[in-house]
Amino acid sequence: MATATTVIEPKVKVTATKLLINGKWVDAASGKTFPTINPSTGEVITQVAEADAADVDKAVAAARAAFEKGAWRKMSASARGVLMNKLADLIEKHAEELAELESLDNGKPYQVALAADLQLTIACYRYYAGWADKIQGKTIPVQGRYFTYTKHEPVGVVGQIIPWNFPLLMQAWKLAPALAAGCTSVLKPAEQTPLTALRVGELMMEAGFPDGVVNILPGYGPTAGAAIARHMDVDKVAFTGSTEVGHLIMRGAADSNLKRVTLELGGKSPNIVFADADMDKAIEGAHFALFFNQGQCCCAGSRLFVEEKCYDEFVAKSVERAKKRTVGNPFDKKTEQGPQVDQDQFNKVMGYIETGKKENAKLLAGGNRVGDKGYFIEPTVFADVQDNMTIAREEIFGPVMSILKFKDISEVVERANKSVYGLAAAVWTQDITKAHAIADGVRAGTVWVNCYDVFDAAAPFGGFKQSGLGRELGEYGLANYTEVKTVTVKL
Ligand code: NAD
Ligand code: MG
Repeated sequence: MATATTVIEPKVKVTATKLLINGKWVDAASGKTFPTINPSTGEVITQVAEADAADVDKAVAAARAAFEKGAWRKMSASARGVLMNKLADLIEKHAEELAELESLDNGKPYQVALAADLQLTIACYRYYAGWADKIQGKTIPVQGRYFTYTKHEPVGVVGQIIPWNFPLLMQAWKLAPALAAGCTSVLKPAEQTPLTALRVGELMMEAGFPDGVVNILPGYGPTAGAAIARHMDVDKVAFTGSTEVGHLIMRGAADSNLKRVTLELGGKSPNIVFADADMDKAIEGAHFALFFNQGQCCCAGSRLFVEEKCYDEFVAKSVERAKKRTVGNPFDKKTEQGPQVDQDQFNKVMGYIETGKKENAKLLAGGNRVGDKGYFIEPTVFADVQDNMTIAREEIFGPVMSILKFKDISEVVERANKSVYGLAAAVWTQDITKAHAIADGVRAGTVWVNCYDVFDAAAPFGGFKQSGLGRELGEYGLANYTEVKTVTVKL
Protein backbone atom coordinates (compact mmCIF):
# COMPACT_ATOMS: atom_id res chain seq x y z
CA MET A 1 0.00 0.00 0.00
CA ALA A 2 0.92 3.63 -0.25
CA THR A 3 3.67 5.18 1.75
CA ALA A 4 3.11 8.86 2.53
CA THR A 5 5.98 10.04 0.34
CA THR A 6 4.45 8.87 -2.95
CA VAL A 7 1.12 10.62 -2.38
CA ILE A 8 0.50 13.97 -4.05
CA GLU A 9 -1.72 16.53 -2.32
CA PRO A 10 -3.97 18.01 -5.03
CA LYS A 11 -3.83 21.79 -4.91
CA VAL A 12 -6.44 22.43 -7.58
CA LYS A 13 -9.38 24.77 -6.84
CA VAL A 14 -12.56 24.41 -8.85
CA THR A 15 -13.14 27.76 -10.57
CA ALA A 16 -15.72 27.05 -13.29
CA THR A 17 -19.10 25.51 -12.42
CA LYS A 18 -21.56 27.44 -14.60
CA LEU A 19 -22.62 27.19 -18.22
CA LEU A 20 -20.48 28.92 -20.85
CA ILE A 21 -22.85 30.57 -23.31
CA ASN A 22 -21.82 33.32 -25.70
CA GLY A 23 -18.61 34.01 -23.79
CA LYS A 24 -20.38 34.46 -20.42
CA TRP A 25 -20.58 32.18 -17.40
CA VAL A 26 -24.26 31.86 -16.57
CA ASP A 27 -26.63 29.86 -14.37
CA ALA A 28 -29.03 27.41 -15.99
CA ALA A 29 -32.36 28.97 -17.05
CA SER A 30 -34.05 26.64 -14.55
CA GLY A 31 -31.62 27.61 -11.80
CA LYS A 32 -30.93 23.89 -11.28
CA THR A 33 -27.59 22.42 -10.35
CA PHE A 34 -26.30 18.87 -10.00
CA PRO A 35 -23.47 17.40 -7.95
CA THR A 36 -20.28 16.00 -9.42
CA ILE A 37 -18.76 13.25 -7.32
CA ASN A 38 -15.24 12.23 -6.39
CA PRO A 39 -15.30 8.50 -7.27
CA SER A 40 -12.54 7.71 -4.77
CA THR A 41 -14.78 8.70 -1.86
CA GLY A 42 -18.31 9.02 -3.22
CA GLU A 43 -18.36 12.59 -1.86
CA VAL A 44 -19.63 15.64 -3.71
CA ILE A 45 -16.83 17.83 -5.12
CA THR A 46 -19.09 20.70 -6.10
CA GLN A 47 -22.45 21.63 -7.61
CA VAL A 48 -22.52 22.43 -11.32
CA ALA A 49 -25.16 24.33 -13.31
CA GLU A 50 -27.51 21.88 -15.03
CA ALA A 51 -28.31 22.78 -18.63
CA ASP A 52 -31.58 21.76 -20.25
CA ALA A 53 -33.39 22.51 -23.52
CA ALA A 54 -33.80 26.25 -22.84
CA ASP A 55 -30.05 26.64 -22.32
CA VAL A 56 -29.34 24.58 -25.42
CA ASP A 57 -31.55 26.99 -27.41
CA LYS A 58 -29.55 29.97 -26.16
CA ALA A 59 -26.22 28.29 -26.81
CA VAL A 60 -27.22 27.23 -30.32
CA ALA A 61 -28.36 30.81 -31.08
CA ALA A 62 -24.98 32.11 -29.85
CA ALA A 63 -23.10 29.52 -31.89
CA ARG A 64 -25.20 30.35 -34.96
CA ALA A 65 -24.51 34.08 -34.60
CA ALA A 66 -20.78 33.43 -34.14
CA PHE A 67 -20.78 31.17 -37.19
CA GLU A 68 -22.62 33.56 -39.49
CA LYS A 69 -21.29 36.94 -38.44
CA GLY A 70 -18.75 38.47 -36.14
CA ALA A 71 -15.08 37.95 -35.44
CA TRP A 72 -14.89 34.19 -36.02
CA ARG A 73 -16.49 34.42 -39.43
CA LYS A 74 -14.10 37.19 -40.48
CA MET A 75 -11.00 35.63 -39.00
CA SER A 76 -8.48 34.17 -41.46
CA ALA A 77 -7.88 30.43 -41.36
CA SER A 78 -4.31 30.92 -40.15
CA ALA A 79 -5.52 33.18 -37.32
CA ARG A 80 -7.82 30.34 -36.21
CA GLY A 81 -4.77 28.11 -36.09
CA VAL A 82 -2.89 30.68 -34.00
CA LEU A 83 -5.76 30.79 -31.48
CA MET A 84 -5.83 27.01 -31.25
CA ASN A 85 -2.09 26.93 -30.63
CA LYS A 86 -2.58 29.52 -27.90
CA LEU A 87 -5.14 27.25 -26.28
CA ALA A 88 -2.72 24.31 -26.52
CA ASP A 89 -0.03 26.43 -24.84
CA LEU A 90 -2.42 27.40 -22.03
CA ILE A 91 -3.43 23.77 -21.48
CA GLU A 92 0.26 22.86 -21.34
CA LYS A 93 0.93 25.66 -18.85
CA HIS A 94 -1.90 24.36 -16.67
CA ALA A 95 -1.22 20.67 -17.31
CA GLU A 96 -0.65 19.70 -13.67
CA GLU A 97 -3.72 21.57 -12.51
CA LEU A 98 -5.87 19.99 -15.24
CA ALA A 99 -4.49 16.53 -14.49
CA GLU A 100 -5.41 17.01 -10.83
CA LEU A 101 -8.90 18.10 -11.76
CA GLU A 102 -9.31 15.18 -14.17
CA SER A 103 -8.11 12.73 -11.54
CA LEU A 104 -10.39 14.21 -8.87
CA ASP A 105 -13.53 14.15 -11.04
CA ASN A 106 -12.93 10.91 -12.94
CA GLY A 107 -10.82 8.81 -10.55
CA LYS A 108 -8.02 8.04 -13.01
CA PRO A 109 -4.50 8.05 -11.57
CA TYR A 110 -3.01 11.53 -11.61
CA GLN A 111 0.25 10.33 -13.14
CA VAL A 112 -1.64 8.69 -16.00
CA ALA A 113 -3.78 11.78 -16.57
CA LEU A 114 -0.64 13.90 -16.79
CA ALA A 115 1.37 11.53 -18.98
CA ALA A 116 -1.41 10.33 -21.28
CA ASP A 117 -4.57 12.44 -21.25
CA LEU A 118 -2.89 15.84 -21.06
CA GLN A 119 -0.18 15.10 -23.60
CA LEU A 120 -2.62 13.64 -26.13
CA THR A 121 -5.00 16.55 -25.58
CA ILE A 122 -2.31 19.16 -26.21
CA ALA A 123 -1.04 17.26 -29.26
CA CYS A 124 -4.57 17.05 -30.67
CA TYR A 125 -5.13 20.83 -30.52
CA ARG A 126 -1.70 21.45 -32.06
CA TYR A 127 -2.23 18.90 -34.82
CA TYR A 128 -5.52 20.45 -35.88
CA ALA A 129 -4.20 24.01 -35.44
CA GLY A 130 -1.82 23.09 -38.23
CA TRP A 131 -4.72 22.02 -40.45
CA ALA A 132 -6.68 25.28 -40.09
CA ASP A 133 -5.09 26.95 -43.13
CA LYS A 134 -4.57 23.75 -45.13
CA ILE A 135 -8.19 22.80 -45.73
CA GLN A 136 -8.53 23.14 -49.45
CA GLY A 137 -10.55 21.88 -52.37
CA LYS A 138 -9.65 20.90 -55.91
CA THR A 139 -9.96 22.22 -59.42
CA ILE A 140 -11.84 19.74 -61.57
CA PRO A 141 -11.45 19.34 -65.34
CA VAL A 142 -15.12 19.10 -66.39
CA GLN A 143 -16.37 18.83 -69.99
CA GLY A 144 -17.14 22.04 -71.92
CA ARG A 145 -15.97 25.60 -71.36
CA TYR A 146 -16.40 25.69 -67.63
CA PHE A 147 -14.14 26.18 -64.67
CA THR A 148 -15.12 23.95 -61.73
CA TYR A 149 -13.60 23.96 -58.30
CA THR A 150 -14.52 22.64 -54.85
CA LYS A 151 -14.40 24.38 -51.49
CA HIS A 152 -14.38 22.56 -48.17
CA GLU A 153 -16.58 24.74 -46.01
CA PRO A 154 -17.31 24.35 -42.30
CA VAL A 155 -20.40 22.24 -41.68
CA GLY A 156 -21.75 24.96 -39.38
CA VAL A 157 -23.00 24.76 -35.80
CA VAL A 158 -22.03 21.44 -34.29
CA GLY A 159 -23.41 19.72 -31.21
CA GLN A 160 -20.83 17.61 -29.43
CA ILE A 161 -21.72 15.14 -26.69
CA ILE A 162 -18.85 13.49 -24.87
CA PRO A 163 -18.36 10.70 -22.32
CA TRP A 164 -16.66 10.57 -18.92
CA ASN A 165 -13.83 8.10 -19.54
CA PHE A 166 -11.42 10.60 -21.17
CA PRO A 167 -13.09 13.94 -20.50
CA LEU A 168 -10.29 16.27 -21.65
CA LEU A 169 -9.20 14.13 -24.55
CA MET A 170 -12.71 13.59 -25.90
CA GLN A 171 -13.28 17.33 -25.69
CA ALA A 172 -10.13 17.84 -27.78
CA TRP A 173 -11.12 15.15 -30.31
CA LYS A 174 -14.40 17.02 -30.77
CA LEU A 175 -13.41 20.69 -30.55
CA ALA A 176 -10.07 20.65 -32.35
CA PRO A 177 -11.25 19.50 -35.81
CA ALA A 178 -14.42 21.59 -35.51
CA LEU A 179 -12.46 24.76 -34.78
CA ALA A 180 -9.86 24.05 -37.45
CA ALA A 181 -12.67 23.73 -40.00
CA GLY A 182 -14.25 26.99 -38.83
CA CYS A 183 -17.34 25.51 -37.14
CA THR A 184 -18.84 26.72 -33.87
CA SER A 185 -19.82 24.34 -31.10
CA VAL A 186 -22.26 23.53 -28.34
CA LEU A 187 -20.50 20.90 -26.28
CA LYS A 188 -22.02 18.82 -23.50
CA PRO A 189 -19.59 17.11 -21.16
CA ALA A 190 -20.71 13.96 -19.34
CA GLU A 191 -22.61 14.58 -16.12
CA GLN A 192 -20.04 12.46 -14.23
CA THR A 193 -17.07 14.63 -15.26
CA PRO A 194 -17.90 18.24 -16.16
CA LEU A 195 -15.03 20.02 -14.42
CA THR A 196 -12.12 19.88 -16.85
CA ALA A 197 -14.34 20.77 -19.83
CA LEU A 198 -15.40 23.92 -17.98
CA ARG A 199 -11.82 24.79 -17.02
CA VAL A 200 -10.81 24.48 -20.69
CA GLY A 201 -13.70 26.87 -21.43
CA GLU A 202 -12.02 29.41 -19.17
CA LEU A 203 -8.72 28.88 -20.96
CA MET A 204 -10.46 29.38 -24.32
CA MET A 205 -11.76 32.74 -23.17
CA GLU A 206 -8.26 33.60 -21.95
CA ALA A 207 -6.79 32.59 -25.32
CA GLY A 208 -9.19 35.02 -27.00
CA PHE A 209 -11.74 32.86 -28.79
CA PRO A 210 -14.62 35.09 -29.84
CA ASP A 211 -17.88 34.84 -27.88
CA GLY A 212 -20.21 32.04 -28.93
CA VAL A 213 -17.61 30.00 -30.83
CA VAL A 214 -17.54 27.36 -28.10
CA ASN A 215 -20.40 26.99 -25.65
CA ILE A 216 -20.11 24.44 -22.86
CA LEU A 217 -23.24 23.01 -21.27
CA PRO A 218 -22.91 20.44 -18.51
CA GLY A 219 -26.12 18.50 -17.97
CA TYR A 220 -27.79 15.14 -18.36
CA GLY A 221 -28.21 13.07 -21.51
CA PRO A 222 -31.98 12.67 -21.83
CA THR A 223 -32.46 16.43 -21.28
CA ALA A 224 -29.57 18.59 -22.52
CA GLY A 225 -28.06 15.85 -24.69
CA ALA A 226 -31.34 14.99 -26.40
CA ALA A 227 -32.07 18.69 -26.97
CA ILE A 228 -28.78 18.98 -28.88
CA ALA A 229 -29.41 15.84 -30.96
CA ARG A 230 -32.94 16.99 -31.86
CA HIS A 231 -32.21 20.69 -32.38
CA MET A 232 -33.40 22.09 -35.71
CA ASP A 233 -30.52 24.57 -35.96
CA VAL A 234 -27.61 22.24 -35.20
CA ASP A 235 -25.95 21.17 -38.46
CA LYS A 236 -24.04 18.19 -37.15
CA VAL A 237 -23.91 16.12 -34.00
CA ALA A 238 -20.80 14.26 -32.89
CA PHE A 239 -21.24 11.74 -30.11
CA THR A 240 -19.02 9.41 -28.12
CA GLY A 241 -20.59 6.98 -25.66
CA SER A 242 -22.72 3.87 -25.52
CA THR A 243 -24.12 2.17 -28.62
CA GLU A 244 -27.56 2.37 -27.04
CA VAL A 245 -27.44 6.18 -26.89
CA GLY A 246 -25.80 6.24 -30.34
CA HIS A 247 -29.06 4.83 -31.72
CA LEU A 248 -31.00 7.61 -29.94
CA ILE A 249 -28.71 10.31 -31.34
CA MET A 250 -29.19 9.06 -34.87
CA ARG A 251 -32.94 8.87 -34.37
CA GLY A 252 -32.88 12.44 -33.02
CA ALA A 253 -31.10 13.60 -36.17
CA ALA A 254 -33.51 11.67 -38.40
CA ASP A 255 -36.58 13.04 -36.62
CA SER A 256 -35.39 16.65 -36.74
CA ASN A 257 -33.30 18.21 -39.50
CA LEU A 258 -31.16 15.34 -40.83
CA LYS A 259 -28.14 16.87 -39.19
CA ARG A 260 -24.89 15.09 -39.99
CA VAL A 261 -24.05 12.39 -37.48
CA THR A 262 -20.75 10.92 -36.37
CA LEU A 263 -20.71 8.29 -33.65
CA GLU A 264 -17.93 6.68 -31.69
CA LEU A 265 -19.52 3.90 -29.69
CA GLY A 266 -18.81 0.73 -27.81
CA GLY A 267 -16.64 -2.23 -28.57
CA LYS A 268 -15.71 -5.77 -27.66
CA SER A 269 -12.31 -5.74 -29.25
CA PRO A 270 -10.49 -9.01 -29.95
CA ASN A 271 -6.88 -9.14 -28.79
CA ILE A 272 -5.24 -12.18 -30.39
CA VAL A 273 -2.08 -13.79 -29.03
CA PHE A 274 -0.19 -16.44 -31.02
CA ALA A 275 2.23 -18.84 -29.36
CA ASP A 276 5.14 -17.41 -31.36
CA ALA A 277 4.69 -13.94 -29.81
CA ASP A 278 7.23 -12.42 -27.46
CA MET A 279 5.36 -13.81 -24.43
CA ASP A 280 6.37 -11.21 -21.83
CA LYS A 281 5.46 -8.34 -24.13
CA ALA A 282 2.17 -9.97 -25.08
CA ILE A 283 1.23 -10.56 -21.44
CA GLU A 284 2.05 -6.99 -20.43
CA GLY A 285 0.41 -5.68 -23.61
CA ALA A 286 -2.78 -7.65 -22.98
CA HIS A 287 -2.83 -6.48 -19.36
CA PHE A 288 -2.53 -2.86 -20.48
CA ALA A 289 -5.06 -3.37 -23.29
CA LEU A 290 -7.73 -4.41 -20.82
CA PHE A 291 -6.94 -2.70 -17.51
CA PHE A 292 -5.83 0.72 -18.77
CA ASN A 293 -8.12 3.48 -17.48
CA GLN A 294 -9.82 1.09 -15.03
CA GLY A 295 -10.97 -0.91 -18.05
CA GLN A 296 -13.11 2.04 -19.12
CA CYS A 297 -11.98 2.21 -22.75
CA CYS A 298 -14.21 1.85 -25.78
CA CYS A 299 -11.41 -0.09 -27.47
CA ALA A 300 -10.41 -2.25 -24.47
CA GLY A 301 -9.00 -5.62 -25.51
CA SER A 302 -11.89 -7.35 -23.81
CA ARG A 303 -11.91 -10.59 -25.80
CA LEU A 304 -8.45 -11.97 -25.26
CA PHE A 305 -7.98 -14.90 -27.65
CA VAL A 306 -4.91 -17.00 -26.78
CA GLU A 307 -3.54 -19.81 -28.93
CA GLU A 308 -3.97 -23.24 -27.39
CA LYS A 309 -0.22 -24.00 -27.48
CA CYS A 310 0.63 -21.18 -25.05
CA TYR A 311 -2.72 -20.88 -23.29
CA ASP A 312 -1.85 -22.33 -19.87
CA GLU A 313 1.37 -20.36 -19.50
CA PHE A 314 -0.30 -17.18 -20.72
CA VAL A 315 -3.24 -17.51 -18.35
CA ALA A 316 -1.03 -18.24 -15.34
CA LYS A 317 1.22 -15.25 -16.01
CA SER A 318 -1.70 -12.92 -16.78
CA VAL A 319 -3.31 -13.86 -13.47
CA GLU A 320 -0.04 -13.21 -11.66
CA ARG A 321 0.25 -9.81 -13.33
CA ALA A 322 -3.36 -8.85 -12.53
CA LYS A 323 -2.84 -9.75 -8.87
CA LYS A 324 0.15 -7.38 -8.76
CA ARG A 325 -1.78 -4.43 -10.18
CA THR A 326 -1.89 -1.65 -7.57
CA VAL A 327 -5.36 -0.31 -6.89
CA GLY A 328 -6.02 2.71 -4.73
CA ASN A 329 -5.69 6.45 -4.27
CA PRO A 330 -5.37 8.08 -7.72
CA PHE A 331 -3.06 10.68 -6.19
CA ASP A 332 -0.56 8.04 -5.12
CA LYS A 333 2.19 7.84 -7.74
CA LYS A 334 2.33 4.05 -7.28
CA THR A 335 -1.31 3.56 -8.16
CA GLU A 336 -2.02 1.84 -11.46
CA GLN A 337 -5.78 1.66 -11.06
CA GLY A 338 -8.25 4.07 -9.47
CA PRO A 339 -11.98 3.68 -8.87
CA GLN A 340 -14.68 3.18 -11.52
CA VAL A 341 -16.30 6.49 -12.39
CA ASP A 342 -19.53 6.16 -10.39
CA GLN A 343 -21.90 3.91 -8.50
CA ASP A 344 -23.79 2.93 -11.67
CA GLN A 345 -20.65 1.79 -13.45
CA PHE A 346 -19.49 0.00 -10.29
CA ASN A 347 -22.80 -1.86 -10.06
CA LYS A 348 -22.77 -2.70 -13.75
CA VAL A 349 -19.24 -4.16 -13.60
CA MET A 350 -19.95 -6.12 -10.40
CA GLY A 351 -23.08 -7.46 -12.11
CA TYR A 352 -21.00 -8.74 -15.04
CA ILE A 353 -18.60 -10.44 -12.62
CA GLU A 354 -21.58 -12.27 -11.04
CA THR A 355 -22.85 -13.23 -14.50
CA GLY A 356 -19.41 -14.55 -15.46
CA LYS A 357 -19.38 -16.80 -12.37
CA LYS A 358 -22.94 -17.99 -12.99
CA GLU A 359 -22.16 -18.88 -16.61
CA ASN A 360 -19.20 -20.94 -15.37
CA ALA A 361 -16.28 -18.91 -16.64
CA LYS A 362 -13.27 -19.69 -14.45
CA LEU A 363 -12.59 -16.82 -12.02
CA LEU A 364 -8.83 -16.80 -11.37
CA ALA A 365 -8.21 -13.34 -9.95
CA GLY A 366 -10.18 -10.57 -8.26
CA GLY A 367 -13.94 -10.44 -8.38
CA ASN A 368 -14.46 -8.23 -5.35
CA ARG A 369 -14.80 -4.66 -4.28
CA VAL A 370 -11.69 -3.00 -2.83
CA GLY A 371 -12.21 -1.09 0.42
CA ASP A 372 -15.54 0.20 1.68
CA LYS A 373 -15.79 3.63 0.12
CA GLY A 374 -15.43 4.80 -3.44
CA TYR A 375 -15.94 2.55 -6.44
CA PHE A 376 -12.78 0.41 -6.50
CA ILE A 377 -12.85 -3.07 -8.04
CA GLU A 378 -10.13 -5.73 -7.98
CA PRO A 379 -8.42 -6.50 -11.27
CA THR A 380 -10.43 -9.53 -12.32
CA VAL A 381 -9.50 -12.37 -14.67
CA PHE A 382 -11.82 -15.00 -16.10
CA ALA A 383 -10.33 -17.87 -18.10
CA ASP A 384 -12.02 -20.59 -20.18
CA VAL A 385 -14.51 -18.02 -21.41
CA GLN A 386 -16.76 -19.26 -24.23
CA ASP A 387 -17.94 -17.11 -27.15
CA ASN A 388 -21.60 -17.32 -26.16
CA MET A 389 -21.10 -16.18 -22.55
CA THR A 390 -22.45 -12.75 -21.66
CA ILE A 391 -19.00 -11.51 -20.59
CA ALA A 392 -17.65 -12.43 -24.05
CA ARG A 393 -20.41 -10.59 -25.90
CA GLU A 394 -21.30 -7.44 -23.97
CA GLU A 395 -19.16 -4.43 -23.21
CA ILE A 396 -18.22 -4.57 -19.51
CA PHE A 397 -16.28 -1.29 -19.37
CA GLY A 398 -14.41 -2.31 -16.25
CA PRO A 399 -11.33 -4.18 -14.99
CA VAL A 400 -12.53 -7.62 -16.06
CA MET A 401 -10.38 -9.69 -18.40
CA SER A 402 -11.94 -12.55 -20.37
CA ILE A 403 -9.52 -15.11 -21.82
CA LEU A 404 -10.65 -17.44 -24.62
CA LYS A 405 -8.72 -20.29 -26.26
CA PHE A 406 -8.22 -20.74 -30.03
CA LYS A 407 -6.51 -23.24 -32.36
CA ASP A 408 -5.81 -21.56 -35.71
CA ILE A 409 -6.03 -18.37 -37.76
CA SER A 410 -9.19 -18.96 -39.76
CA GLU A 411 -11.06 -20.03 -36.64
CA VAL A 412 -9.95 -17.02 -34.61
CA VAL A 413 -10.77 -14.53 -37.39
CA GLU A 414 -14.26 -15.96 -37.70
CA ARG A 415 -14.82 -15.84 -33.94
CA ALA A 416 -13.29 -12.36 -33.63
CA ASN A 417 -15.77 -11.10 -36.22
CA LYS A 418 -18.79 -12.66 -34.51
CA SER A 419 -19.70 -9.45 -32.72
CA VAL A 420 -22.03 -6.52 -33.28
CA TYR A 421 -18.98 -4.35 -32.66
CA GLY A 422 -15.93 -3.55 -34.76
CA LEU A 423 -13.92 -0.84 -33.08
CA ALA A 424 -10.40 -2.21 -32.62
CA ALA A 425 -8.36 -5.40 -32.64
CA ALA A 426 -4.80 -6.44 -31.97
CA VAL A 427 -2.50 -9.31 -32.77
CA TRP A 428 0.67 -10.48 -31.06
CA THR A 429 3.01 -12.60 -33.19
CA GLN A 430 6.51 -12.54 -34.66
CA ASP A 431 5.25 -13.95 -37.94
CA ILE A 432 4.40 -11.15 -40.38
CA THR A 433 2.15 -13.44 -42.40
CA LYS A 434 -0.05 -14.12 -39.38
CA ALA A 435 0.01 -10.45 -38.41
CA HIS A 436 -1.22 -9.41 -41.84
CA ALA A 437 -3.77 -12.21 -42.02
CA ILE A 438 -5.35 -10.85 -38.84
CA ALA A 439 -5.06 -7.20 -39.92
CA ASP A 440 -6.75 -8.15 -43.19
CA GLY A 441 -9.41 -10.47 -41.82
CA VAL A 442 -10.68 -8.64 -38.76
CA ARG A 443 -13.52 -6.18 -39.31
CA ALA A 444 -12.43 -3.30 -37.09
CA GLY A 445 -11.54 0.37 -37.49
CA THR A 446 -8.10 -0.03 -35.95
CA VAL A 447 -5.72 -3.00 -35.82
CA TRP A 448 -2.65 -2.90 -33.62
CA VAL A 449 0.22 -5.29 -34.30
CA ASN A 450 2.42 -6.09 -31.29
CA CYS A 451 1.14 -3.00 -29.49
CA TYR A 452 -2.11 -1.66 -28.08
CA ASP A 453 -3.81 1.69 -27.50
CA VAL A 454 -1.30 3.56 -29.62
CA PHE A 455 -3.07 6.81 -30.43
CA ASP A 456 -1.95 9.77 -32.48
CA ALA A 457 -3.89 12.86 -33.50
CA ALA A 458 -2.90 12.12 -37.10
CA ALA A 459 -4.19 8.52 -37.16
CA PRO A 460 -7.94 8.03 -37.76
CA PHE A 461 -9.98 6.17 -35.19
CA GLY A 462 -13.54 4.86 -35.30
CA GLY A 463 -15.70 1.83 -35.72
CA PHE A 464 -17.05 -0.69 -38.16
CA LYS A 465 -20.58 -2.01 -37.52
CA GLN A 466 -22.27 -0.83 -34.31
CA SER A 467 -19.05 0.67 -32.99
CA GLY A 468 -19.85 3.84 -34.84
CA LEU A 469 -20.13 5.97 -37.90
CA GLY A 470 -17.35 8.08 -39.41
CA ARG A 471 -13.83 8.55 -38.13
CA GLU A 472 -12.22 10.93 -35.67
CA LEU A 473 -8.66 12.28 -35.78
CA GLY A 474 -6.42 12.81 -38.77
CA GLU A 475 -7.60 14.11 -42.11
CA TYR A 476 -10.61 11.75 -42.08
CA GLY A 477 -11.78 13.26 -38.81
CA LEU A 478 -11.50 16.74 -40.24
CA ALA A 479 -13.54 15.79 -43.32
CA ASN A 480 -16.52 15.14 -41.05
CA TYR A 481 -16.55 18.83 -40.09
CA THR A 482 -16.71 20.13 -43.63
CA GLU A 483 -19.24 20.27 -46.45
CA VAL A 484 -17.97 20.12 -50.02
CA LYS A 485 -19.22 22.90 -52.26
CA THR A 486 -18.83 22.62 -56.04
CA VAL A 487 -18.57 25.94 -57.92
CA THR A 488 -18.88 26.00 -61.72
CA VAL A 489 -18.10 29.13 -63.75
CA LYS A 490 -18.86 29.61 -67.47
CA LEU A 491 -15.73 30.63 -69.29
P1 NAD B 1 -23.90 7.21 -22.20
O1 NAD B 1 -23.82 6.80 -23.60
O2 NAD B 1 -25.26 7.27 -21.55
O3 NAD B 1 -23.25 8.65 -21.99
C1 NAD B 1 -22.35 9.29 -22.87
C2 NAD B 1 -22.78 10.73 -23.09
O4 NAD B 1 -24.06 10.73 -23.72
C3 NAD B 1 -22.95 11.56 -21.82
O5 NAD B 1 -22.57 12.89 -22.07
C4 NAD B 1 -24.45 11.48 -21.58
O6 NAD B 1 -24.94 12.56 -20.81
C5 NAD B 1 -24.97 11.53 -22.99
N1 NAD B 1 -26.32 10.98 -23.16
C6 NAD B 1 -26.93 10.00 -22.44
N2 NAD B 1 -28.18 9.79 -22.89
C7 NAD B 1 -28.37 10.65 -23.91
C8 NAD B 1 -29.47 10.93 -24.78
N3 NAD B 1 -30.62 10.27 -24.66
N4 NAD B 1 -29.33 11.88 -25.72
C9 NAD B 1 -28.19 12.55 -25.84
N5 NAD B 1 -27.11 12.35 -25.05
C10 NAD B 1 -27.20 11.41 -24.09
O7 NAD B 1 -22.97 6.26 -21.37
P2 NAD B 1 -23.02 5.96 -19.78
O8 NAD B 1 -24.41 5.70 -19.33
O9 NAD B 1 -22.24 6.99 -19.08
O10 NAD B 1 -22.24 4.58 -19.76
C11 NAD B 1 -22.92 3.40 -20.15
C12 NAD B 1 -22.03 2.52 -20.97
O11 NAD B 1 -21.67 3.18 -22.18
C13 NAD B 1 -20.70 2.17 -20.35
O12 NAD B 1 -20.81 1.14 -19.43
C14 NAD B 1 -19.91 1.81 -21.55
O13 NAD B 1 -20.20 0.48 -21.93
C15 NAD B 1 -20.41 2.76 -22.61
N6 NAD B 1 -19.53 3.95 -22.77
C16 NAD B 1 -18.73 4.00 -23.87
C17 NAD B 1 -17.87 5.07 -24.03
C18 NAD B 1 -16.96 5.17 -25.21
O14 NAD B 1 -15.91 5.76 -25.11
N7 NAD B 1 -17.35 4.64 -26.38
C19 NAD B 1 -17.81 6.08 -23.08
C20 NAD B 1 -18.67 6.02 -21.99
C21 NAD B 1 -19.51 4.93 -21.84
MG1 MG C 1 -17.16 13.23 -10.96
